[in-house]
Amino acid sequence: MTDHLVQATAADATVRALAAVTTDLVDEACRRHGTWPTASAALGRTLTGALLLGRTFKDLERLTLRFQCEGSIGGITAEASAHGTVRGYVRNPEADVPLNSHSKLDVSGVVGNGMLHVIREAGIDIGLSREPYTASVPIVSGEIGEDLAHYLAVSEQINSAVSLGVFVEPEQGRITAAGGFVVQLMPGAEPRTVDAVERWTAAAPHVTQMIRQGADAAGILQQALGEIPIELLEKRPVEFRCTCSYDRALHIVSCLGREEVQDMLEKDHGAVLTCHFCSAVYTLGEAALEELLSPPPPVLM
Ligand code: ZN
Repeated sequence: MTDHLVQATAADATVRALAAVTTDLVDEACRRHGTWPTASAALGRTLTGALLLGRTFKDLERLTLRFQCEGSIGGITAEASAHGTVRGYVRNPEADVPLNSHSKLDVSGVVGNGMLHVIREAGIDIGLSREPYTASVPIVSGEIGEDLAHYLAVSEQINSAVSLGVFVEPEQGRITAAGGFVVQLMPGAEPRTVDAVERWTAAAPHVTQMIRQGADAAGILQQALGEIPIELLEKRPVEFRCTCSYDRALHIVSCLGREEVQDMLEKDHGAVLTCHFCSAVYTLGEAALEELLSPPPPVLM
């Protein structure tokens, strides 16, 4: 099953629901960064959360979740675009602790206390660079899903159930199930709808369990909302994709200034840049640096 995300409504649009299957993209991110099991779960939940949350805001072009953590993972960043792509990384990929008392990966054990920053950007594609909107809330549980629900309640005044899960194969460390759902109660939801949503979402099986049993994103929503009928609005593919490139690496080096480039050329005979978001390595040789130092051709008026 390829990674995908669905959006749906229920109870006369007073309930908004989204779900995603993100197994492949989480596996790719974890392989790229060489994360250990607990860090894999933390990164995978954050990537999935960014994709889901990104779709809940209208006209949004980029949503970034940044967990600033006091735990051994140090920090988690995920950036999702409106086009269904996501990229991200953790500060310490080797953060790992023993399983918790429920025999589950102890994500809060590596996250610890700290802050969650949510950055929303719009208008990039049409050339309007509006100021990004940033909201910050303290980390309340460190399990990621509960932290996103807390952010939505406090900063957006939207009561939401957020469930995110990553299944890491115990032996080989590969990700064989990842995904999540967000169910939101909109203004005007009737008390019986609120009751039903709370009851069903609380009783829903774990997301990775549903995925391992073959559920797609629509199936996850169906199980999360139990007997509440849902109306599917949209299904779209999602994937891990970074925006870095050799040209960007060149641009970054050129922004360092002539002296710095000269220095790199003389001391290191080149430059090596690694992208935080995807671990891609860009090697700029002597010729590339020399070209940056050569004067631009004259402009003919
Ligand atoms: Zn990259």
